[in-house]
Amino acid sequence: MLIDENHYLDGAEQVQSPNYNERPSEEEISLLVIHNISLPPGRYGGGYIEQFFQNQLPVAVDPFFEEIKELQVSSHLLIERTGRIVQFVPFSKRAWHAGISEYQGRDGCNDFSLGIELEGTDDEPYTDIQYKQLAEVTRAIQERYPAITLDRIVGHCDIAPIRKTDPGPSFDWQKYRSLVFGI
Ligand SMILES: [Zn+2]
Repeated sequence: MLIDENHYLDGAEQVQSPNYNERPSEEEISLLVIHNISLPPGRYGGGYIEQFFQNQLPVAVDPFFEEIKELQVSSHLLIERTGRIVQFVPFSKRAWHAGISEYQGRDGCNDFSLGIELEGTDDEPYTDIQYKQLAEVTRAIQERYPAITLDRIVGHCDIAPIRKTDPGPSFDWQKYRSLVFGI
């Protein structure tokens, strides 16, 4: 996998989200944040995550959608259960995935991070193809943004521990690291 000159992942499907803005000037991309999401919660497929990140959730489909419809959020990438990868925001821009957050004394992690959503939940195992895709994406990201070192790949739970639990106990960090780094 490669990241092109416009900061898009080759091979990802592009779906534009309006929910992004500029990073602070001269801000180096130096953190990778792994999340999970499923819409409605615990259900897969349906395309609702894409609609959510485009502020176009069909609220009649599920009562939960009514609760979250006003949220304006996004991630750079979504990796679906099937391995399909969608990119919503170019990596050079600030996606709105981390919320109130802090890593190693710096707050506002959206300023300097990339966000990847795995379609999933905290307690159901992710699919093998998701791990494979995530590992390949991680290698491409590290090649392009070398400040993202092994110790700067974290879960949303690590930068917003009071509010967030994702990617949850279901995410096998050891399996992921061994796929990416061979350790
Ligand atoms: Zn999250």
